[in-house]
Amino acid sequence: CGIVGYVGQRPALSIVLDGLRRLEYRGYDSAGIAVVSDGSVRTEKKAGKLANLEKALGERADDGIASGSTAIGHTRWATHGGPTDRNAHPHLSADGRVAVIHNGIIENFARLRAELEATGVEFVSDTDTECAAHLLAAEMAKLRADSAEKDGPQLLAEGMRRVCARLEGAFTLLAVDVQVPDAVVGARRNSPLVVGRGEGENYLASDVSAFIEHTREAVELGQDQVVLITPEGIEITDFTGQTAMGKDFHIDWDA
Ligand code: GLU
Repeated sequence: CGIVGYVGQRPALSIVLDGLRRLEYRGYDSAGIAVVSDGSVRTEKKAGKLANLEKALGERADDGIASGSTAIGHTRWATHGGPTDRNAHPHLSADGRVAVIHNGIIENFARLRAELEATGVEFVSDTDTECAAHLLAAEMAKLRADSAEKDGPQLLAEGMRRVCARLEGAFTLLAVDVQVPDAVVGARRNSPLVVGRGEGENYLASDVSAFIEHTREAVELGQDQVVLITPEGIEITDFTGQTAMGKDFHIDWDA
């Protein structure tokens, strides 16, 4: 029910956790985060309140999760699959390199899941969301294989556009990829997502209250758009890759 993403220079974990706390009022049954750090995507996710997630993080050995400067965080309101640790987001691709969080419902997930399973992918959750993680990894692998496309933020954005073209339903999606460490890609269809513009850092969230203590410069997205944030940039396209313009606005209310 809440989504936060950060890319910049600062440790992302505490920024994303703070953002999730500010979205708590929306209600949720589970929470989780993924941090890109030292060549891997490190995740922690727990059913129940954010306090459960924070406890798990506190008990964790220092593996870099607290220092990486790219992260995504999620609070879940389960629609497909019970509110368990396993079904909490983020969901990873089978190789553990791509992490995805999602608010909404992917209506054609059963068909997509069957198709992916036929190619040998093993699912580890009961969610509709997990198919988006496997699909994104598969699309990025295809892009790497059959184009001169270099690994980098553009490949992540193009992978996300290809995934969105295959999804039915309402969704906000955020994803990170270990091979593209300084980027978060987001997408929306009939579900909220807004960009926060910082200096040398940028934010994505389902609601501006998640980043308002860091920046009051925001960008409104249109429907069916993909947004790529890096520390230095914000790029918006539609699902076909056509450049789109977001609408800049200043948040002038008190947080
Ligand atoms: N449909 C997804 C799930 O059940 C996302 C639910 C949400 O919006 O939090 O995991």
